[in-house]
Amino acid sequence: MNRNAFFKSLALIPFGGIIMKLNALQKEVEKLPNSPLMPLLFLGHGSPMNAIEDNQFVQGFKHIAKTIPKPNAILCISAHWYTKGTYVTAMEHPKTIHDFGGFPKALFDVEYPAPGSPSLALETKQLIKNTEVGLDQHWGLDHGAWSVIKHLYPNADIPVVQLSIDYSQPAEYHYNLSKQLASLRKKGILIIGSGNIVHNLGLVDFANINNVDYGFDWAIEAREKVNYQLLNGDFNPLLQYEKMGKALQYAVPTPDHYLPLLYTLGLKNKNESLSLFNDHLLAGSLSMTSVHIG
Ligand code: ZN
Repeated sequence: MNRNAFFKSLALIPFGGIIMKLNALQKEVEKLPNSPLMPLLFLGHGSPMNAIEDNQFVQGFKHIAKTIPKPNAILCISAHWYTKGTYVTAMEHPKTIHDFGGFPKALFDVEYPAPGSPSLALETKQLIKNTEVGLDQHWGLDHGAWSVIKHLYPNADIPVVQLSIDYSQPAEYHYNLSKQLASLRKKGILIIGSGNIVHNLGLVDFANINNVDYGFDWAIEAREKVNYQLLNGDFNPLLQYEKMGKALQYAVPTPDHYLPLLYTLGLKNKNESLSLFNDHLLAGSLSMTSVHIG
């Protein structure tokens, strides 16, 4: 039975049969050979326009993909899938979601037809023990995922699964949740957090929207403070970013774009190296700082 027929058949069988099919899916993931430990990425995604522009940040995304092994699949935690509870996309063909307004038609025309991976979705659900992870059939790929992954893998030939962020939980919860996904790294799964560390849209200086290395004083301070903790490998203060001073409060007015960073950091092993790229402020109140671990 090919994959299409296999998943169509899921809809037609009674509950006991579904359990059997889920077992078959699980075996599919278990069959994946162990691979060297995959790196981890946090990508500062910035404006959706990065999807169709060519600039230094896009070059940074393209470059990083060339420096890491080609993954079997991608698990992406995007700032733009913010839910009550935790979900994982489990459809075979996730749609491209154009979850923004006021941008040119060319951006709405972009499709990123990467396949999904119901087997990776199930494996992710089963690895997370402290909460019930829902298998989602409705979301797809939001621009936090596709606007950057398309630069890493333009052929859309690598399956992508998204994991949602539970907005009702504190920072430390997300950091600890991600630790449960560690075994995926040995199966060739690339885990990507996609957000922005400094992200205050309400204070963006639109007259300087493309002005790189232009940051307000508090943005400069926030970037320096977070980078210091990242490069020193002491992530505990980052879990209590609200206590890191006024600058962080301006930089992270809402946690949605910050939390994907913690999913990346939670999976870092002690002996792994961490480096930054695309580490620039932009438009006064944004940063594009991205992290490569491993
Ligand atoms: Zn965003």
